[in-house]
Amino acid sequence: MTLDAEVIIVGGGPAGAATAWGLARAGVDVVVLDRARFPRDKPCAEYLSPQVSRVLSDMGILAVVEAAGAARLTGMTIRAPSGTSFRGQFVAAHGFRGFRDDGLSLRRLVLDAILLRHAEAAGARIMEGSAVTDVTRDGSGRVTGVRFSVDTDAQDPDTPLAAANARTLSAHVVVGADGLRSVVSRRVGLAHSRRWPRRLAFVTHYRGVADIGTTGEMHVERDGYIGLADVGSGHTTVALVVPARESRGVGADRAGFLDAWIARHPQLASRFRGANRISPVRATGPFAQHARALWAPGVALVGDAADFFDPFTGEGVYTALRGGELLTPFLCDAVRGPGAGAADAALAAYERCWRREFRGKQIVERAVGAAVAMPAVIEHVARVLARRPDMADLLIGVTGDFVPASEVLRAGYLGRLALPAFLHRPAGPR
Ligand SMILES: Cc1cc2nc3c(=O)[nH]c(=O)nc-3n(C[C@H](O)[C@H](O)[C@H](O)COP(=O)(O)OP(=O)(O)OC[C@H]3O[C@@H](n4cnc5c(N)ncnc54)[C@H](O)[C@@H]3O)c2cc1C
Repeated sequence: MTLDAEVIIVGGGPAGAATAWGLARAGVDVVVLDRARFPRDKPCAEYLSPQVSRVLSDMGILAVVEAAGAARLTGMTIRAPSGTSFRGQFVAAHGFRGFRDDGLSLRRLVLDAILLRHAEAAGARIMEGSAVTDVTRDGSGRVTGVRFSVDTDAQDPDTPLAAANARTLSAHVVVGADGLRSVVSRRVGLAHSRRWPRRLAFVTHYRGVADIGTTGEMHVERDGYIGLADVGSGHTTVALVVPARESRGVGADRAGFLDAWIARHPQLASRFRGANRISPVRATGPFAQHARALWAPGVALVGDAADFFDPFTGEGVYTALRGGELLTPFLCDAVRGPGAGAADAALAAYERCWRREFRGKQIVERAVGAAVAMPAVIEHVARVLARRPDMADLLIGVTGDFVPASEVLRAGYLGRLALPAFLHRPAGPR
């Protein structure tokens, strides 16, 4: 049977673009379908960890991303509801060093288009405005391709319009790189929603926010948390994340909801007094999604479709790019192997490799995601880390993707973190 491609990738975000680039470079015939037309925006706090630069450098586009106006971030400052704050820096005395000393921050509108065009230049075929609505299967239930419709609103793939426009494409393997609410993951029964924490995000950009420095900021409050970061050109990304119950009744007035939230917190309100919002407020969530497994016969998942990392730790783009990097050689084996059994063995090996790489990070991310929902815990952690910048640097290095997660999961670190703050010697000036 003649196939339309060797691999079909659903979703042209960082995970899909990185996978497509790697496959195209390896000579695999790959098609990427995305429901959007690029450049397209994506709700995100837009912080890129220092190790994202390593992947971009290996892809040969770090210089392009830097030249596109990316801002540099030297670390992160976290503020607890009481006002206690701590700062972790990427360059620190712990002995670990990122690929670059700084993280970057760039509008996803710009970054994602650079990545997708780079995959295209390497030979990937890109089909924008193509919304995948379902997978196709053979008699054994193995996935053989996708059903999609062109230029319909795939926010709801079950609409009659989507069904009426349906077309199909076939391939050896379909990759679900279609983000948080992956259609591929849902259609093959791998998607799983956790009950807690259920959070929604409201993301936008401002010009003129006061006192934005070179560290990203996270302000944790009892009614949610908000991230602020310089994103270049004098613009600030503002990403508010709230428990789903806090946003009941928001309706269409997302800007009003965000303004009211900021106004309730005086340390933020004063900094936004002279600022202007310069992009629409986009909403996304709830986030508590992951996949039960990262593959099924004929299918692999990568990026947010595989596992969604809580935005607090800002690791999603790295996980998406690195996931694409990990998946590529297994896909090459899958399409070049002697048959379906060999393909499945390659996809199963990908899952083992992904879990080995990200297991520690998942534990840290889940723990941080839970801590920000518990004010007493976040207050305690902030008091300890304010006195122990060495421990703060280590934690921020883990979220920066260059310090192994095991460094903050070992008993010594956790034991020190659990001690009352007054038992730690106060930090001197930095
Ligand atoms: C509020 C918030 C803040 C965040 N902040 C950060 C941060 O500061 N740093 C960080 O690293 N990460 C952050 N993240 C996470 C990061 O945005 C994601 O992890 C990252 O975008 C994952 O990339 P992806 O390629 O898997 O998915 P996406 O970037 O979501 O790309 C998926 C693509 O699939 C397409 N698609 C979806 N459905 C279909 C379909 N049916 N048919 C065809 N195409 C489809 C979409 O159009 C999209 O282009 C944040 C996330 C949120 C929600």
